[in-house]
Amino acid sequence: MTRLLTRTNHTRLSGARVPLVAAIVAALTLSAGAQTRIEPHKNRYSPQQDVQLGRQAATEVRGKMPMLDDERTESFIEAIGERLVAEIPDHLDQPAFRYSFEVVNLKEINAFALPGGPMFLHRGMIEAARTDGEVAGVMAHELGHVILRHGTAQATKGQKFQVGAIAGQVLGAIVGGRAGSVISQGSQVGLGVYFMKYGREYEREADLLGAQIMARAGYDPRHMANMFRTIERQGGGRGPEWLSDHPNPGNRYEAIVREADTLEVRGRAPQDEIERVHARLARLSPAPTSAQVAREQQRRQTGSAGTTARGSRSR
Ligand SMILES: [Zn+2]
Repeated sequence: MTRLLTRTNHTRLSGARVPLVAAIVAALTLSAGAQTRIEPHKNRYSPQQDVQLGRQAATEVRGKMPMLDDERTESFIEAIGERLVAEIPDHLDQPAFRYSFEVVNLKEINAFALPGGPMFLHRGMIEAARTDGEVAGVMAHELGHVILRHGTAQATKGQKFQVGAIAGQVLGAIVGGRAGSVISQGSQVGLGVYFMKYGREYEREADLLGAQIMARAGYDPRHMANMFRTIERQGGGRGPEWLSDHPNPGNRYEAIVREADTLEVRGRAPQDEIERVHARLARLSPAPTSAQVAREQQRRQTGSAGTTARGSRSR
């Protein structure tokens, strides 16, 4: 079950902020050194087109990737997502966007967000994270790409794209790797690879904006930097897909920590929920790898192709 979230809804839920407190916080922030101001890029697409594109791709993700559908785990990431979405800076807010947070039952450490708001975390990412803040870090980074509309901003720089025509191609590239190549068999990958693999500039922006949102939401942004190290460590020889889709803009760890030094962490988000989620996941059967899922999909496709070749109807 996907619960869609708008920023306005959540802001109302979390209560009105006292202007005086906001002013004091702003003053403190200034005195600590100004945070980096991130501006949106030139974009020929409308925010509604981001939403449309992301919605199409999300439907395909849900249909073709193994979803975890575990309420305990899902409510954990939804709660983090809601905290983050509530703190999107006003000048970057997109009222048309609808945010959702879901878990894919795959072992590999990965996460991806689609234009307009749908976000997917692999179970492997949640299992690898050591703190709630590390999960929030990856999510805040992904949210940064969504808010800054990096997918369509990147398309704006390139050749002409028709939104309807690219959804499937985009998906293969966003999801990436082995499971992604299975998904994109129906559509030719190529455009998509270009479309969703971000360069250093976008990565740096997502890091810094993500750090700012984390601090406002009650998470120490240094957890984001820690998570990137956790991902690197767990990557082994091949390196996790997340890092190839989100290349290090250079001195990533140091840049996030430097930004964190300018930020005041407001309040305190829950810190130890992850232990309960880890315990819960440990009771479920282990997540399959993308390769296992791809083999299984291949096997089913071959099976149904044989049926079609004999001219008989399936079912
Ligand atoms: Zn990124």
